Amino acid sequence: MVWTNSKDTALRERAQAVIPNGMYGHQSVFMLPDDFPQFFSRGQGAYMWDVDGNRYLDFLCGYGPNLFGYAHADIDKAYSDRTAQGDTLTGPGAEMVELAEAMVGLVSHADWAMFCKNGTDATTMAMMIARNHTKKNTIVLAKGAYHGAAPWCTPLKGGVTAADRAHQVFYEYNDVESLEAAVREAGSDLAAIFASPIKHDTFVDQELPNPAYARRARELCDEHGALLIVDDVRAGLRLARDSSWSLVGVKPDLSSWGKAIANGHPISALLGAEAFRMAAATIYVTGSFWFSAAPMAAALATLKLVRETDYLERTIALGERLRAGLDESAARHGFGLRQTGPAQIPLIMFEDDPDAAKAYAWNNALIRRGVYMHPWHNMFICAAMTEADIDFALNVADDAFKTVREAGPLEPVAKLAILHAMVDA
Ligand code: PMP
Repeated sequence: MVWTNSKDTALRERAQAVIPNGMYGHQSVFMLPDDFPQFFSRGQGAYMWDVDGNRYLDFLCGYGPNLFGYAHADIDKAYSDRTAQGDTLTGPGAEMVELAEAMVGLVSHADWAMFCKNGTDATTMAMMIARNHTKKNTIVLAKGAYHGAAPWCTPLKGGVTAADRAHQVFYEYNDVESLEAAVREAGSDLAAIFASPIKHDTFVDQELPNPAYARRARELCDEHGALLIVDDVRAGLRLARDSSWSLVGVKPDLSSWGKAIANGHPISALLGAEAFRMAAATIYVTGSFWFSAAPMAAALATLKLVRETDYLERTIALGERLRAGLDESAARHGFGLRQTGPAQIPLIMFEDDPDAAKAYAWNNALIRRGVYMHPWHNMFICAAMTEADIDFALNVADDAFKTVREAGPLEPVAKLAILHAMVDA
């Protein structure tokens, strides 16, 4: 099929009239290479189709929720069966208790669970519980880490007051000295240290946590009576069948979850240790849709697959196959790649590409050939992918490298300069 985007273009034009700037947040494709579609009609397994009917092998996985494949039969049956019985009722279903039991059973640091809708709900609750427990204010966070889009953490400054950002001190991820300095600056007011399980910031190489850094964060919290919060919204269930920091032997006090826990159905969670149960019980947090039963049923079906299948080992093996194949192909065409982070959470950027022009040109070529990747955000391998899918991606990638090589010198990406200016403003 020939790649076209006439329907997408028409929808974008209509969106301009009725949606601010045509789209917002991470769906603002003005940040992405020009040919990226904005509107999609369906997903199945590892693939999705845009409104023009173009099929993509999707390495964004909905920015994380797609763990077992789109339209997964068992998960979506659990969801639709419960929807047929009633979803958002005046109170929750038995699924809420079953899901809390399932999550506490899976995540070794957790003794209790609370459910909400978005990752931002969970990270915000974590901050509130830490402050409620300690009766202190200051949170220490890694510079550049994403924890959501509420005024206390959203990356742009529009609509945000200085008061919204009060009581925050920043450190460099993996840098023990800078963490210690931030804790010193917080002084006697330290409520919590936030950490992403891995450094998965945009535009920069990913980093695995240095165990010494993770252990020091734990020690500092213990010394100061502060809470260690691991934000597992993005990486949760993709690194371990437990808290991601179980891999470095460090137990957080609280952990935030979302994205993959119901394979795309809307639910997030905050998990905590015994000592913080009362602090969690005495903040007021809620939402009209937080108790809906169908996403909880979907989460239970997802967690069953987490416990009973080899999804994790398979996604790691597929990620390694992709990484090795891309390195080999890029080198053949005279490019060096920066492939960082865990293989199943790949981030792919180019060496000698300060303004991301190569990355944009390559991703644009991938899109037109049916592979959806991202020039500066980490991606995901889903368990519905097969070796044949990875090999398809490698063939497409090889052709795309050739296209970029033959195109010769590239123009800087103007829209990216605009984006950076917005973040820095
Ligand atoms: N924390 C992390 C690490 C995330 O990746 C995200 C979402 N990208 C969030 C929090 C916020 O989650 P949500 O978009 O569901 O509010």
